[in-house]
Amino acid sequence: MSRALAATFLIATGTAQAPLAVAQPQLPMMGDGAEMTTSAERKLGDSIIRQLYRDPDYIDDAVLHEYVQGLFQALLQAAQARGELAPELRERFAWEVLLGRDRTVNAFALPGGYFGVHLGLIGVVGTRDELASVLAHEISHVTQRHIARLIAQQGRQTPLMLGTMILGALAASRSPEAAQALVVGGQALAVQNQLNFSREMEREADRVGYGLMEPGGFAPQGFVSMFDKLQQANRINDNGSWPYLRSHPLTTQRIADMHSRIPQGAAQPAPATLDHLMMAARARVLMRPGVDTWRQWVAEPQDAGFAARPMPERVAAWYAATLSAVQLGDMATARKCLRGLQNDLPRALHGGDGHDGKAAARLARLLGAELELSAGNAPAALSYLQGSVVLDGARRAGAAGSAGETGVARAAEAAPGRPELLLRTQALLRTGAAAEMAGPLQTWVATHPRDAAAWQALAQVWQQQGQLLRAVRAEAEAHAARYDYAAAVDRFKAGQDLARNPARGGSAAGDYIELSIIDTRLRAVESLLKEQAAER
Ligand SMILES: [Zn+2]
Repeated sequence: MSRALAATFLIATGTAQAPLAVAQPQLPMMGDGAEMTTSAERKLGDSIIRQLYRDPDYIDDAVLHEYVQGLFQALLQAAQARGELAPELRERFAWEVLLGRDRTVNAFALPGGYFGVHLGLIGVVGTRDELASVLAHEISHVTQRHIARLIAQQGRQTPLMLGTMILGALAASRSPEAAQALVVGGQALAVQNQLNFSREMEREADRVGYGLMEPGGFAPQGFVSMFDKLQQANRINDNGSWPYLRSHPLTTQRIADMHSRIPQGAAQPAPATLDHLMMAARARVLMRPGVDTWRQWVAEPQDAGFAARPMPERVAAWYAATLSAVQLGDMATARKCLRGLQNDLPRALHGGDGHDGKAAARLARLLGAELELSAGNAPAALSYLQGSVVLDGARRAGAAGSAGETGVARAAEAAPGRPELLLRTQALLRTGAAAEMAGPLQTWVATHPRDAAAWQALAQVWQQQGQLLRAVRAEAEAHAARYDYAAAVDRFKAGQDLARNPARGGSAAGDYIELSIIDTRLRAVESLLKEQAAER
């Protein structure tokens, strides 16, 4: 994220690793008293991501986030099942991935179970297994309490100073120029070296992370091919676009460890799934490569050799072309490219497994909805979201039943999730019929109270229905979800004013209950705000 979600939490500066307390390799140091408590670490993490949420490069892309979070959750479950993730950590930490638009190849762990992933990484990995291997490594830095130990070594720093230090390290690693500047500032460099993971920690994160792959449903070979990819990038040179290499130097020891884990005669890496190819294409487009590159991608399907390319590659190219055209505001071309995608998709799926097919077809429908929403055609967007545009066999399979059954079958096939929820709300807001989304959104935020975008959507729905008090409360919750307690308190107080001032739309039936919710939430958030201020 610009200057912020920069490189890994902890950057190696080329002068090898800092001389940290050396653990016995592969022996976690849990409970030796030399680490931060879980609740202190979570609070520190909250205060850091509060800043990252405000970073202009932070991106809450529902489609990409769902994809990455899906891999991430599978790995977390594996860690839990293997006893690598203590129940207390599972409970207390956030376990949330933040995406940054940054083009550099990077992923990093932050205190408190937060993780950053740059779109540059998603755009460059060949398979979901490779992406999972990086996530598994980073998850293991947290489950093994490496971060807690590093921070404990900083001595009696206040949380504010620690947070500033970490944000500074992130910022500095973002660009090669900034890294240069850092070398000049000796003090900052000294701080950075203290924040590096030790070689032992790196090896432990490899070992524990590798163990999560198979139980998480991933091909362990993904770890090896990711290492190969890093080695290749290493040979070509580090021009600053691979900060992950700076923070995770590929020592010969790490490579030897990895090769010793692969069983003799291990299967070749699995080919990329279609949904992964589409998501990598999406990441490349959304990382803002520039107008010229978007134009190149729009033109790519017209290349002489395009027809001869493998179908999965063509699908990914059509996806990139469609989304690039949307970015360029050329909706007619975007629709043409989407038709190309719709034509090639069934052929790419021929012989492929069923799950991949459904996931890919759903991604194509979501792309259609996104396109039509950008084009201002809300009804067309809605028809994509209702599955009424046939891209796979789902609708035909369901069409045999009664109307009601068809709806159920279709919903199950399409497996609607957060992207559908948010896109559908936006489309219905345009047609003035968003009332039906109030229920589903309320159900969603009840189980995902930290989903700021969903709270914001709910605020818009209530606003459109003239339920102003509820709308103001949802706005307050959206701020609270991003740990911006001051802004949340401000909105809750605005709600109180509104309720006590009938002339401004308050005092409708039911407002008494609404106001008591606001009063309760205001008190809770005010005390969180005090706590936040005291931590400085
Ligand atoms: Zn690492």
